Amino acid sequence: MKVASPDKRCLEIDAPSGRRVNFRTGIADVSPSDAKAIVKNGGFFPSLSGTTNSGIGFRCSTCGFGSFFKTCSRCGGTAVPEGSK
Ligand SMILES: [Zn+2]
Repeated sequence: MKVASPDKRCLEIDAPSGRRVNFRTGIADVSPSDAKAIVKNGGFFPSLSGTTNSGIGFRCSTCGFGSFFKTCSRCGGTAVPEGSK
């Protein structure tokens, strides 16, 4: 599966499997277990960025409504960044 480098300057990573992963293009195709380890160390799954489920959006602390705005568009309550709880 595809995973993005934790750091632009990081061109190579030694994955837990022992495989050397090349990040010269910013994204590498690795095994799921290696991908998990890389994400744990600051990398991310490029396919998840830009969706409301990736931690980029906000969720209302009052009614639980998800949105891209800090103020809930349903009840006017305060929304907190997704995944901050
Ligand atoms: Zn709300």
